[in-house]
Amino acid sequence: MCGIVGFTGTREAAPVLIDGLRRLEYRGYDSAGVAVSDGGTVNMAKVKGYVKNLSEITHDGADLKGRIGIGHTRWATHGAPNDVNAHPHLSSDGRFAVVHNGIIENYALLRQELTGRGYKFASDTDTEVVAHLLELYYDGDAKRAVMRTAARLEGSYSLGVLCSDGRLFAMREQSPLILGLGVGENYFASDVAALVPHTKNVIYLDDGEFAELTPDSVTVYDVLGRAVEKPVSRVTWDVEAAEKGGYEHFMLKEIMEQPACFKATVEPRIKDGRIVFENFDLTDEELHGINRVIITACGSASYAGQVGRYIMEELCRIPVSVELASELRYRNPIIDKHTMLIVISQSGETADTIAAMRECKARGARVLAIVNVVGSTIAKLADHVIYTWAGPEIAVATTKGYTTQVAVLDMLAIYLADRLGLMEKERYDRLVDALHAMPGQIQRAIDLNRNIGRLAKKFCRHNAIYFIGRNLDYAVCMEGALKLKEISYIFAEAYAAGELKHGTIALVEEGSLVIALACYEPLFDKTMSNIEEVKARGAEVLAVALEGSRKILSKADDVIFVPRTEPVFNPIAQVVPLQLFAYYVARERGCDIDKPKNLAKSVTVE
Ligand code: GLU
Repeated sequence: MCGIVGFTGTREAAPVLIDGLRRLEYRGYDSAGVAVSDGGTVNMAKVKGYVKNLSEITHDGADLKGRIGIGHTRWATHGAPNDVNAHPHLSSDGRFAVVHNGIIENYALLRQELTGRGYKFASDTDTEVVAHLLELYYDGDAKRAVMRTAARLEGSYSLGVLCSDGRLFAMREQSPLILGLGVGENYFASDVAALVPHTKNVIYLDDGEFAELTPDSVTVYDVLGRAVEKPVSRVTWDVEAAEKGGYEHFMLKEIMEQPACFKATVEPRIKDGRIVFENFDLTDEELHGINRVIITACGSASYAGQVGRYIMEELCRIPVSVELASELRYRNPIIDKHTMLIVISQSGETADTIAAMRECKARGARVLAIVNVVGSTIAKLADHVIYTWAGPEIAVATTKGYTTQVAVLDMLAIYLADRLGLMEKERYDRLVDALHAMPGQIQRAIDLNRNIGRLAKKFCRHNAIYFIGRNLDYAVCMEGALKLKEISYIFAEAYAAGELKHGTIALVEEGSLVIALACYEPLFDKTMSNIEEVKARGAEVLAVALEGSRKILSKADDVIFVPRTEPVFNPIAQVVPLQLFAYYVARERGCDIDKPKNLAKSVTVE
């Protein structure tokens, strides 16, 4: 949610900053801006719309002279997305320029106070108070002004501060910020994607810390301004991983990467035919002490959790519930040390999920995090972490993030069932073999559906689509419907197939489209009956079924076939054509697939 970048070196800053913003644009894209300086005045440009617009008005940054600077691509929380509310924001005296990711929760009070002191506000943003506070507290030492300002702020923020005299600061509080260490130049950014073209050596700031950057040094301070030693980490992926690599959209590229990402997530954790996790080491006593699992997450990650719930309950015989993080947090949840909380987040920075996790941890839950981004807040706060090795996910609508989360949940369920003595060796071995085979099966799911664009063309003009399924199929319906909503803006909802007749079937009429998932074989005949019911009311049915299932052909109008895998892994193969379907429907409708309206990746605000 919003990308910020900072640069200091001996070359011109603006082109570097604009390139960085392009790489962070998936985080927010309603306006963009940069401010640079050479130690004299601050030169600034900002504009509504995509980073491309900023690039155009500044001739790729060539118009803005200065070797130190900050940049921002916004996902508005306070104030409409327009030129004036775009970041950076300036102090009244022009000494400080500020970019911000997050929300200053006490901004209204601060704004009142500053207005009372005579400061004039140019924008409607919460961020602008920071610029004026810096001016208020400046007594000749910018570092002191930064510390005093930070002490007044409540909420979540990562901030980049450029002083007209050339000093450059970065601050972090509950919003991601990473420092990049170069040779004769240094950087900061919300995500390593903007840093990898320049350096792989990074420092992850912790909450409450801030840093001053010069071309030759990076100094990190704690809240009290005392220098702290920070470890330098190496980013393991290359710059190509965060580029489109010839695909029209990041989303398509990421769909196609799923066989490889699944493999990267699963293979290193199977040693001599046994599943082993590097950072999840419960004693038998601890394990048997768990009497309940709560999976908490938001959006697609919570739908990955839904798949996990079915599998874990089935294999481990432990009650599992999936709770939306934004609800769990405020529900005075009943949790104790016998609860295992599984937290799922691609970015590891999802604000709602972090809050729910803190709440449950305080009540004694043991927390296992499934995240993709190394060094992220959730990874740091959890008791145990299992990383999904999906690589950078840039498209706002998740694909490989989701499938690798399901992969980890699958492995976890098998691992726990085995440790609990609930799985026979023969079944364990069969499932592990099937895990090895899954990358090939995901590829087959892609190959079997090369012509899905034809179905997308046929159905893209519907304005409501109902997804139905039972058990694991129902869990996949939730993700399939969300994909379609997010990028094609078609109203789509998932219903447990047996539930439809208890209300929603009232909406089904001649020509309605129902996507019926019929891969869960124990309930295949039941789903068939539900297909009959909607057909009897005039619906057209697009079914998703297992390869070789002939019966479906007599009922459905069109069929998407997926390969037959071990039943517990079916959701992974099933979701892939649904992702492709959403992609091609959105493309037919002319939607901006990688930058869907009103959304942004990595939701770091509540
Ligand atoms: N709250 C700030 C604004 O609305 C920053 C939002 C963001 O993170 O992009 O301008």
